[in-house]
Amino acid sequence: MNLDLESINRCVRCGTCRSVCPVFEEVGWESANTRGRILAMKGLYDGLVAGPDVLDSLNTCTTCGICTASCPAGVKPPDMVEGVRRELVSSGIMSREQALLKERLFSSGNVFGDPGDRLAWLKRRGQEGDWLKGDKAKAIYFVGCLNSYRYQDTASRTFDLLRRFGATILADEQCCGSPLVRTGFDAGRLREANVRQIREIGADTIITGCAGCYSTLKRDYPPDLRVMSVPEFLADRLPELDLKPLEMTVTYHDPCHLGRQSGIYDQPRRVIESICRLKEMRASRESARCCGGGGGVRVGYRDLSLRMAKRRLADVPEGVDFIVTSCPLCIRNLRDAGAGRKVIDIVDLVAASIGDSASAD
Ligand code: SF4
Ligand code: SF4
Repeated sequence: MNLDLESINRCVRCGTCRSVCPVFEEVGWESANTRGRILAMKGLYDGLVAGPDVLDSLNTCTTCGICTASCPAGVKPPDMVEGVRRELVSSGIMSREQALLKERLFSSGNVFGDPGDRLAWLKRRGQEGDWLKGDKAKAIYFVGCLNSYRYQDTASRTFDLLRRFGATILADEQCCGSPLVRTGFDAGRLREANVRQIREIGADTIITGCAGCYSTLKRDYPPDLRVMSVPEFLADRLPELDLKPLEMTVTYHDPCHLGRQSGIYDQPRRVIESICRLKEMRASRESARCCGGGGGVRVGYRDLSLRMAKRRLADVPEGVDFIVTSCPLCIRNLRDAGAGRKVIDIVDLVAASIGDSASAD
């Protein structure tokens, strides 16, 4: 098995990561923390057979990256976990949930296996128009599976904002590939379908409101395409947005793939503070606790994923009207863990500030 032995050996087994791994906080076993996962990798290198326990150890990592931030030896466990998942999958070793996820994605082009129209959200607020004629544009709004199918008002509000600045959408957007790449599969087919359409439109910038899409578009798509998150884009255009203040206090949840993995901390805060008061969560920025949804964990280990989300909700300070974030997967997991509609997308806050409703789908 072709594993990254150099990284495995760089780990000095100090256990610093045990104190930060959100999975270990819930499960409490060595195999469920970063160091244990690296020991499982070493075992695989030495010939250990990847049975269900080893798969559970490797597949319960949310790739949140908080261990990377605290590791004194410079180890990057999320990259290692994704690498070993790829190796196992290429040898045909995967869980039932991984196999089903792949089947769903390749048969439908979306993470839900939903056969419905991915662009149905355009009709919700009368946004049908000439967008899909294939006209040239410099920027495209990459909607992502969750906003396309589950948070359609957010998709619609985002597009309302972005089309003011000339952005268009893809007529046949496919999943960015994130759920496949994070769980060890090759997402080339989906990526190529998206890139072909982006090239036809002539766009050089992709704007997305999903942290998972952002990270995948940035890491796995052609490097000449500029990738921006919606909060970055909005923060750059604050003077043109004509935001009105709202009498409320919100907190901000940093999505792992936007914060720790991409360094986008200030821009969403600038947007929020242009509208209302911001009260930070008990753990924020580099120390933000994972919502528990990423890395395929929500798909494969729903109960564990929701327990992590509940723990994240305990970080919410007193006296806030909304928990704002910029990742629909975080929204979904935090809502399901009990926060309900108190969790909203940053675009929903911006839309409320310019006169739209603050409630989200
Ligand atoms: S903190 Fe780094 S070196 Fe220490 S056990 Fe964890 S991964 Fe290994
Ligand atoms: S990336 Fe997050 S979940 Fe995975 S081992 Fe590191 S701290 Fe644990």
